[in-house]
Amino acid sequence: MNNYDTICAISTSLGKSAINIIRLSGEDSIEIASKIISGVDIRKKEGGTITHAYIKENGNYIDEILVSVFRAPKSYTGENLVEINTHGGAYVTERVFDMLISLGARVALPGEFTKRAFMNNKMDLTSAEAVMDIVNANTRKSLDLANKALHRDIYNLVHELRGNIMDILLQIEVNIDYPEYEDEIEISHEKVKHDTSMLIDKITDLIDKAEVMRVYKEGIKTVILGKPNVGKSSLLNALLNQNKAIVTNISGTTRDIVEGKINIGGVVLHLLDTAGVRDTDNPIELIGIEKTMEVLNEAELVLLVLDTSAPLDAQDYSLLEMTKDKKRIIIGNKIDLHGKLDIVDIVNVSSVTKAGVDDLKKKIIKLFIDEDMEKDTEVAISSTRHIGLLKEALSSLKDAYESEKEGLYLDMLEIDFKKAYTSLGLITGEEATSDIVDELFKKFCLGK
Ligand code: GDP
Repeated sequence: MNNYDTICAISTSLGKSAINIIRLSGEDSIEIASKIISGVDIRKKEGGTITHAYIKENGNYIDEILVSVFRAPKSYTGENLVEINTHGGAYVTERVFDMLISLGARVALPGEFTKRAFMNNKMDLTSAEAVMDIVNANTRKSLDLANKALHRDIYNLVHELRGNIMDILLQIEVNIDYPEYEDEIEISHEKVKHDTSMLIDKITDLIDKAEVMRVYKEGIKTVILGKPNVGKSSLLNALLNQNKAIVTNISGTTRDIVEGKINIGGVVLHLLDTAGVRDTDNPIELIGIEKTMEVLNEAELVLLVLDTSAPLDAQDYSLLEMTKDKKRIIIGNKIDLHGKLDIVDIVNVSSVTKAGVDDLKKKIIKLFIDEDMEKDTEVAISSTRHIGLLKEALSSLKDAYESEKEGLYLDMLEIDFKKAYTSLGLITGEEATSDIVDELFKKFCLGK
């Protein structure tokens, strides 16, 4: 165990509640806590025990508590760790917290307890990230994924891939060390090529599956675009199945409504704020092109709404052009008015009668989730960070494979294999630098 200072945090959120939990971790945590606790000497307590006690200040009662004592290395952080359950008032909790700080504990940074668990080898980086994913989970699927990751599913997978790369590296080493065996080299060349190609297939498949999981976990950043009055807010209402937005036929009156989240069949659409896009006083340029491009850059999905009851105009064409390279669905709204637009792949709906809305939902999901694949998509990898690093590893392996085909010496490929090996190590944290680790844990909650 590393010898870090003792940190302290209020781990529960401070409202009025039945209890709050204050946590201390570090070599001196038991010693520090013992100074404010009366009724029991926690320095004599075994690890993994919970005891009823009191907090006193200058002989006066501050609170009646339960105190848990864990001893290194058998604790969440791997260090001595104390948890004090106070009553759930903000004042009493902060009072106890202040007492601990004045006795030498340091205010913990966000995620610092879990970071210590990682630093003390209690968990790898993917499990540590999973802790936060459990806190943030808002669907059953995302909770399941987080639990799998917590129980080292990702670690095991990535560890195996790293093992595969190491095997290839070892074969290359043998060739470099014993170049006199020419026949052997031929065999190795073939074997390295074969193994690399297998690995490329394996990682490609993994990325595909992980992308699907990412959609389930993180949702899809979506923008609903269309000129004023085509029915964007009405469509949003129809998707939401409730009448939250105020719909009027005066242009521009619904401008601050098209944002928020909608859950369609277990997938969350995060609607991007388009207020800026439509917020214009200039009647000639109703669509702010620059603003639209900004929002589009961020969007993973564009729902472009057109009005089927009227011919397309310059603004519609401009939006069609601006979104042509994005993943988009062109929606022909107001189909109940019996108009028709001659556009391929248009999804016709009526936001008023709700005709076509279910088909639209299905189409959205299909655009992101290959239904055939979903059945055996049991993979816990689902975060942008992990997918990005898998892609990095894949690209290095593809470089190696290309060089292989060109007949380059095996030792020239070593560097690509090593790069891939490192990228994967960044996922599990085996190769992570302290900057990366610090950056990751910043996103955590206080006291976690
Ligand atoms: P936005 O400015 O694009 O958000 O458009 P709104 O949702 O405010 O709709 C503008 C007008 O079109 C309102 O009067 C709506 O009632 C009407 N509208 C929206 N969708 C439909 C539809 O599917 N059918 C018909 N008949 N009217 C619609």
